[in-house]
Amino acid sequence: MFSPEIEKFLQGNNYPVFCPKAVFFDMDGVLFDSMKYHASAWVKAMQQAGLPFTEYEAYMNEGRTGASTIDGVFMNIYGRKATEEEKQSIYHLKSNFFESHGKTERMPFAIELLKKIKTQNLEIFVVTGSGQPSLIDSLEENFPKIFQKQKMVTAFDVKHGKPNPEPYLMALKKSGLKPWEIMVVENAPLGIESAKAAGLFTIGVNTGPLNSNVLSEYGVDIIFDGMKDLYNHWENILICK
Ligand code: MG
Repeated sequence: MFSPEIEKFLQGNNYPVFCPKAVFFDMDGVLFDSMKYHASAWVKAMQQAGLPFTEYEAYMNEGRTGASTIDGVFMNIYGRKATEEEKQSIYHLKSNFFESHGKTERMPFAIELLKKIKTQNLEIFVVTGSGQPSLIDSLEENFPKIFQKQKMVTAFDVKHGKPNPEPYLMALKKSGLKPWEIMVVENAPLGIESAKAAGLFTIGVNTGPLNSNVLSEYGVDIIFDGMKDLYNHWENILICK
């Protein structure tokens, strides 16, 4: 059903075959319905620091490390990067606002998809720009026995966050697999940019307020209208070609 998209991916990258053996999941906005809380926490933290920032900007910056998001705003407003002190203070505010939302919910159909993938013997990785300790810990609580620590790449592991390819290249290295044996599931423009720059087949799930055209512009290979839509079409993508 998705043969043209897969064919285009193979030709564009000059790969011999497409045969998925692992799925790399982004976390916020894919596994957790947490982006609305991140966006609101960013707006409040920036406001308190006297910096203009909108929820739309939060969604467009999703995937970046906190430090990189803060640097971007400082460059726009002051024409310079933030100091370490400024970064720490704003990120601390943001984390506190985020934590005050309480428990984060699973994205509908995330656990159903993960369980299905487990039965298909594919490896599962998490590749996230998040450095929220509570969120990473809650992966095990919300998705018991699905994830392993050695199959995670977080904000603590990388020098350059998304949209740099480093996080996805690091996951690829950890997996020991070839780039044509991977599928990425991403919801954010910069996450898609990162995965595509790493040469990986990238499935977009639109779970937020952005127009799907925005995700297409960042080079997504296939796009679905949320995790339920992806769950329903999973078998059609999971083919060796
Ligand atoms: Mg995301």
